[in-house]
Amino acid sequence: MVVGVSAFQTVRYVASAAELHQLPPDRGAEVAFVGRSNAGKSSALNAICERRKLAFVSRTPGRTQMINFFALGDHESLVDLPGYGYARVPDAVRAPWEKLLGSYLQTRGPLRGLALVMDVRHPLTELDQRMLGWFCPTGKPVHVLLTKADKLSREAAGKILRRVEEEIGAFAPNTSVQLFSSLRKFGLDQAAAVFRGWLDAGAPEPVEAAAGLEPDENPRQDRGSRNKSPRAKRGNRPGAKCLKV
Ligand code: GDP
Repeated sequence: MVVGVSAFQTVRYVASAAELHQLPPDRGAEVAFVGRSNAGKSSALNAICERRKLAFVSRTPGRTQMINFFALGDHESLVDLPGYGYARVPDAVRAPWEKLLGSYLQTRGPLRGLALVMDVRHPLTELDQRMLGWFCPTGKPVHVLLTKADKLSREAAGKILRRVEEEIGAFAPNTSVQLFSSLRKFGLDQAAAVFRGWLDAGAPEPVEAAAGLEPDENPRQDRGSRNKSPRAKRGNRPGAKCLKV
């Protein structure tokens, strides 16, 4: 069945959470969007929902580092997660929302899958890899949107698509990748079909491997600071050492 973006037009803002206890109750299935700041996540969300200002909510002061929930009918939600990779956010500000992000990704029951947004010209940054390293052991699917595909020739974008598919496929079989352009409205129906499929599927069985994750080991900025802990150096989180950029 082909499902277009019209499936997401009914979306409306519901709530924002800055701490785990503020997360709204389980309303049913959720799909979360995450990515580096400026990768094009807000534009992708707006394009998929055919809204100009849906993700504007997530941009209002005070909400940029919150988890923002948008309802699709009574039993489904799209979730806009805070962008990562800001260079100039002080540790005191960053640490709490990194913890929130990690806990949400690893423990949120209704979460059916993760849309990981990457600029096609800068795919699989260190932070993207860490995000995959956290999330993949949950056993839930990841769909990568390689955004701003309009910035490259078709051939160049196709090459990057194949490279990213290969590198991710080597360690995370439950991951799919596509080219996307909010500007040219390219790839919208393909993405919408993937997310609709996740929302329509039943709740996945819990995966035991997820219990071994460490919610405190969250993506940090990749410009300047690095996680220097011995565990981080060993790269022993599942997936953390599997991707090469
Ligand atoms: P976010 O920080 O990840 O939410 O990124 P935004 O959606 O705000 O986009 C960051 C910048 O990239 C903005 O200037 C957008 O206009 C631009 N942008 C986003 N998506 C596209 C796209 O598909 N093509 C092009 N050419 N620019 C885009």
